[in-house]
Order: sequence, then C-alpha cells, then structure tokens
Amino acid sequence: MQQAPLQGGHRVRLAKPELLAPAGSLEKLKFAVHYGADAVYIGGQKYGLRSNADNFSIDQMRQGVEFASRYGAKVFVATNIFAHQEDLPGIADYLREIEDAGIAAIITADPAIVETAQKVAPRLEVHLSTQQSTMNWQAVQFWKQEGLPRVVLAREATMAEIREMKSRVDIELEVFIHGAMCSSVSGRCVLSNHFTDRDSNRGGCCQSCRWKYDLHADDQSVSEPGQNLFTMSSKDLCMIEHLPDLIEAGVDSFKIEGRMKSVHYVASVVNAYRQAIDAYFADPDGYTLRKEWVEEIGKAANRPLNTGFFYGTPGATEHIYEPEEKPAPYDFAAVVTDYDAASGIATVQQRSPFRPGMQVEFIGPGGRHFKQEIGDMTDAEGNRLDVARHPLQTIKLRVNEPVSPLDLMRKRTG
Ligand code: SF4
Repeated sequence: MQQAPLQGGHRVRLAKPELLAPAGSLEKLKFAVHYGADAVYIGGQKYGLRSNADNFSIDQMRQGVEFASRYGAKVFVATNIFAHQEDLPGIADYLREIEDAGIAAIITADPAIVETAQKVAPRLEVHLSTQQSTMNWQAVQFWKQEGLPRVVLAREATMAEIREMKSRVDIELEVFIHGAMCSSVSGRCVLSNHFTDRDSNRGGCCQSCRWKYDLHADDQSVSEPGQNLFTMSSKDLCMIEHLPDLIEAGVDSFKIEGRMKSVHYVASVVNAYRQAIDAYFADPDGYTLRKEWVEEIGKAANRPLNTGFFYGTPGATEHIYEPEEKPAPYDFAAVVTDYDAASGIATVQQRSPFRPGMQVEFIGPGGRHFKQEIGDMTDAEGNRLDVARHPLQTIKLRVNEPVSPLDLMRKRTG
C-alpha cells in the first residue's frame, strides 16, 4: 500500500469523502441513507441507464429528497444515456422538474444534456458520468473548463492516474469503489445491443457478458460433455481493504454500484464502508481494517472480489469462468418497523419466510448486530404463527436486544 502523506510524523488530515450509494427505489434510498450514505443516486423515468430498476417519478423524487434531507444527505439523478435525436425533446422540462423537486445534481454523459442543464436548471450541479470514460487529467481539466464541478471517473482509471488528476486539477473526483464491473470497457460495450436489441447505452443492458456460452471452433463445439460452459463475467470490485489509498489520493466521492441490488445488499455494503471511513478519520494513524467490515459485505453477496483496475489491468485470473453463481450466505427475512422496550417485543414486516426455531441475525447502522433463535411469534392481531409465510405480513416477536425501525433481520440461505 502507498505510504500515507505524513506531516510532523502524522498523517495529514484530509476532507472526509462522500459515501455515495445506489437507490433503485424509494425504499432502497431510505435504507442507504439510514445506514450511512452521504448521498444517493437514483434513476428517473427517463434518460437513465437502468431501465429495469424501479425508477423514480417526480413525486417519488420529492419524497426521497425530503427523507434524505432529514439525515443531511443529497440525492443525485442519473441522466446518463447517450441520447439519440429522438431522446432530446422534453429534456429541458424534465431537468426543470427535477431541479424543482430538490435534486442536488444530475449525472450525465451527453454534452447536449450537460449544456441544456446548465442553461435551464442552474441550481442542479452537473456531474460528468463514468460513461464518458475519463482517465486522464487533461480530460478532467476540459470538463472543469466546461463548468462541471465533478467528474465520475471510468472504472478503468488507475490509482496513479487519480493522484495525478487531483494534483493538477482542482475539481471533485467520484470513483467507483464497490460493485459489478463490465467485462468490456465500461460504456463501450454493445453485446446486449447485438444479442437482444437492448441498447446498453440507453439503459437496456441485459448483461449478456454473464450468459453461458458454448465454445466453437470451425463450426464444432470444443466443449467436452459435462464441461463448464464459458462466461465472460468480471469479478466484482471491492476496495474496503484499500480505503486509505483512496482517501490519501484525494478522492472526493466513494461510489457504490448497484441500483438493481437488494435492500439487504445496499444496507450491508453501506454499513461496512461507513464504519471504515469513520474509523479512518477518527484515527488516521491507528487505522486498521476490521474483519467484521469484510464479513458484512460477504453476507449480502457471494461473488468473487478484486481491486479492478486501480493497481493494474486485471488479467485472466480476474474473471469468473464457472457458470453457476453461489447465492449470498444470508437472505433478507424482515425489516423492523417498531420496538417496545418494556416488553422486548419487535414488530417486523416479512420479506421472506421464517419460523420459530430459526437462527436469525439482526443488524443496524454502525455495525450493531446480534444473533438469536426465533421464539414464539404472532401476527398483528395476536394469533400465534408457526411460519411467517406472507410477504409484507406484520409479525411480532421477542428480541434479545433492543432494535430500531429500519434494522434488518436476516437468515442463512439454504
Ligand atoms: S453486457 Fe456486460 S460488459 Fe457489456 S455493458 Fe452489459 S454488463 Fe457491461
């Protein structure tokens, strides 16, 4: 790991970076903010790159901004398609609407949208999307001269390139620190367009790179019977072990990928990074990585992880060739909606089935967690239940430690 900047024998205290989380729905926004995100990015119903996410209406954006502002957090909207001519009519009205909804910034790649936003919605910050594949300081400087306060770098930018950008250009840099990677260079892939007529650059990517492929040579399959089929899936990015490098490089915003990911995933990953960032800034000299943070990330996802392009181009060992993905070790079972301290009874809303005798774990912001076995439980009317089988059903059960609304109850998968 690169040496920390030292002054008088101590690390220089730097500005705390923003922790920026994905929010594919209003519910995920609430969990992301509650578990410690300083800002969230969402998709609207137009001009975004996740056309399958549960994208926000203008009214939902207002609700999201109102919730986030209670925590001092900001909401950004991704408007990061590469627009065809037919996409542009209506963009000015849309940008005015989201500005009026209290959105702090748009994340955009298309110069036509950049220019329109600057003209018609001056209170919206314009952040350059990763879709522009920015990897050198001259390009960063160009966008600064265009009036942009922030550039979201390509996932392919290296740590050395980031350091040079920060040393040469006074601008905010946002960097992906966790989540899925593209097999092709981000934003430059048309596999999905060819295979399914779904345009990656207009929000339709169907992740064709993760499909299973048979290998052929001269019209003959070269796969042995029973042999694994071929995939092109990248390992996921995870920089929790290298946060000091990112902080000391001067990165302004740490971005987590995954607007399509679950509430459990968003809460767990944000929770882990929040604790790590805060621990570093509480004591930069004494900072050490805690294994609980790494374990927390591993409980919500089970894909192999690596450091992407930060320390060099990933090689052949940085891809996943096995076609079958393992499920995450834990599943989201319920969310706490209320807690009565006098009786020790929690009210939860069911998200997947659970029953008395099952081992579960409760988690909350700041790494709060405890395990217990579920005892007797009832529905909202007090009827005893042998299983909580109905989605969104209200259940009451005794908990061994205090819990709070938006705490999660999870169970082991399998
Ligand atoms: S198909 Fe895969 S590599 Fe291509 S854009 Fe989609 S996720 Fe990225």
